[in-house]
Amino acid sequence: MNGLTRRERLIEDENIINMILEKSKVLHLGLVDGDEPYVVPMNYGHVFENGKLTLWLHGAKTGRKLDVMRKNPKVFISMECDIVPFEGDVACKYGISYYSLMAKGTAVIVEDVEEKKQALSALMKTQTKKDFEFNDRLTEVVSIIRIDVKEYTAKFRPAPQK
Ligand SMILES: Cc1cc2nc3c(=O)[nH]c(=O)nc-3n(C[C@H](O)[C@H](O)[C@H](O)COP(=O)(O)OP(=O)(O)OC[C@H]3O[C@@H](n4cnc5c(N)ncnc54)[C@H](O)[C@@H]3O)c2cc1C
Repeated sequence: MNGLTRRERLIEDENIINMILEKSKVLHLGLVDGDEPYVVPMNYGHVFENGKLTLWLHGAKTGRKLDVMRKNPKVFISMECDIVPFEGDVACKYGISYYSLMAKGTAVIVEDVEEKKQALSALMKTQTKKDFEFNDRLTEVVSIIRIDVKEYTAKFRPAPQK
C-alpha cells in the first residue's frame, strides 16, 4: 500500500477494523470548499458489515459543513485510537503507536425519518455501546449526514520492541 513506512502495518482483519471504529469516537471530516480544504472534527456512528462501511454524523441544521457538502458531497475522513507515546534514547526514536483508518466517500444529507432514527441509534451505540431509541420529534431538530464509504485503509503503528 502507498504511504506505509517499514514500521507501519496494513490492517485488513475486519475485527481489528471494527475495533478502530468502535474506539476512535471522533473522526475528522475533510471537505472541499471551493478551492480550500475544510476539516471538521465530529462524533459518528457506524455500521461495518462484509467490508461495507457506512458512517452517520449528526449536528445542527445549518452551518458551513452542510453548505459545503451540498455543493460538493465528496469527503475524506480519518480517525485514530490507542494513541500511546513512547520514548527513545535519541529524539528521532521517540514516537507514537496507534491504529488509524482513512476513507473516501460521498456525503448524503438524510431526510427520511426512519433512517434518521437508525442513524441516531447507531451514533449512540458507537459512542456509548448502549441501545437508544428515538422518536420523530428528536429527528426533527438535528441534521443527519450519511457517509457512504467507497474505499478505506487501516494501519497499525506498533511501539518498537524493547
Ligand atoms: C471532539 C469534537 C467532537 C465534535 N462532535 C460533533 C458532532 O458530533 N456534531 C457536530 O455537529 N459537531 C461536532 N463538533 C463540533 C464541530 O467540530 C463543528 O464545530 C460544528 O459541527 C460546526 O461545524 P460547521 O461547519 O457547521 O461550522 P460553522 O458553525 O458554520 O463554523 C463557522 C466557522 O467556525 C470555525 N469552526 C467551526 N467549527 C470549529 C471547531 N470545532 N473548532 C474551531 N473552529 C471551528 C471555522 O472557521 C468555520 O469556518 C465536535 C467538535 C469536537 C472538537
